[in-house]
Amino acid sequence: MANAETFSQARDMFEIYLEQNGHRKTPERFAILQEIYDYSGHFDVDQLYSQMKEGEFRVSKATLYNTLELLLDCNLVRKHQFDNKNAQYEKSFRVAQHDHVIIADTGEVLEFCDPRIQQIKATLEELFDIEVLHHSLNIYAKKRTK
Ligand SMILES: [Zn+2]
Repeated sequence: MANAETFSQARDMFEIYLEQNGHRKTPERFAILQEIYDYSGHFDVDQLYSQMKEGEFRVSKATLYNTLELLLDCNLVRKHQFDNKNAQYEKSFRVAQHDHVIIADTGEVLEFCDPRIQQIKATLEELFDIEVLHHSLNIYAKKRTK
């Protein structure tokens, strides 16, 4: 669960992004952001949709998809395609940088953080004279049988 300060900063960033890009600042969009920042771990649109049905704001799936696109664009949310299941999302502001290991037979997703990935990005930026915007690294594995 995100603490109040993290959510309030994410909310400010989203508000500025919406203003600067000429999108409407609807209460539904902020409710979706709140729901995402209260949630820990990965979720797909169906999970988010059924969770929001319990809350104050009834939002359509179209609104969810649309808002997720905006949140991806301003880097408040990350999107993953772990296998042939639905796309998974997670909050990304003030969340430790991490990548994922997917256990093939169970679909379990493990998170890991390795500073060498930061180094690889820095090396690539230098080598190609680029600025890395984001990256995606999924490792697919199976548990060892003893
Ligand atoms: Zn993750």
